[in-house]
Amino acid sequence: MPRRLSDQTLKKGNGEIAITFLQDGFGNFQATSTNDAGDGSEACTVTLHYTGGSIEGKTGNGHGHAEMDALHQLWVDVCNKNVDTFVTYSRNLKLDCVDKPCCVKCSTVLGWMGVVPRTTATEKTPYTMGKTSWNVSTDVLNLIREITRVPTDAFRQFANMSQSDVRKHL
Ligand SMILES: [Zn+2]
Repeated sequence: MPRRLSDQTLKKGNGEIAITFLQDGFGNFQATSTNDAGDGSEACTVTLHYTGGSIEGKTGNGHGHAEMDALHQLWVDVCNKNVDTFVTYSRNLKLDCVDKPCCVKCSTVLGWMGVVPRTTATEKTPYTMGKTSWNVSTDVLNLIREITRVPTDAFRQFANMSQSDVRKHL
């Protein structure tokens, strides 16, 4: 199930909200945690299974990492950006990401969105992964805001966290 930030958290400053967003989301993504930092590249293909179909997400489609590309396609093409439709699908979203572990930021978002690993072969890592900055499409940002209530500035701070920022808080 997707989750939302508590009223109490939302009373805090954006910096603190960003940290809570990281900690809770990463903790709630049910994949096995590994310390594998990946191979340094971002190239990755994932499959997101939903009731009635599946989506192939790829890094390099212009929507960020493969996991966020899959989320973009689900939200835009399958849900037509309808929050109620997304919430219905979110009860059964299963991810295969077996090329490499899901990076800390994708894992965090997946944890909030209610996506679960389909098998134990899908792992998560507390590493940021990749040389370019991590980001999501504007559409996915809107989805994340609708579902979690995270303020845009707090989400930006989360998205821009360096590896040492992440290490400090996880
Ligand atoms: Zn990622």
